[in-house]
Amino acid sequence: MANKNMKHKLNIPGPWYCTDPDDDSGEGCIACNVCYTGAPDFFKEDEDGNAYVVKQPLTAEEIELCMEQLEACPVASIGKDG
Ligand code: SF4
Repeated sequence: MANKNMKHKLNIPGPWYCTDPDDDSGEGCIACNVCYTGAPDFFKEDEDGNAYVVKQPLTAEEIELCMEQLEACPVASIGKDG
C-alpha cells in the first residue's frame, strides 16, 4: 500500500497520489512508466521519470482507468487515500 507520508511533491492535491522515489519503505516510484503511458491524462513523469498525479479522476471511467494503473504499479507507489 502506498505511503501517503511520502508523496511526490508535484502531485496535484486530492485523494490520488504517487509516492516519492526516496520512500525508504521500498514502495517509492521506480520510473517504470506504466502509469503515465497507461493513463497519460492523470499521471505524468518528472525530469527523472518518476510519476506524479496531474489530474484527479472523477468519473467512474476515469477512476477505473486509474485503478488499473494502481494495480499494475510494480512497487505500490500509487495511492488513493491521500
Ligand atoms: S507505475 Fe508505479 S513505479 Fe511505475 S511509473 Fe507509475 S508510480 Fe512509478
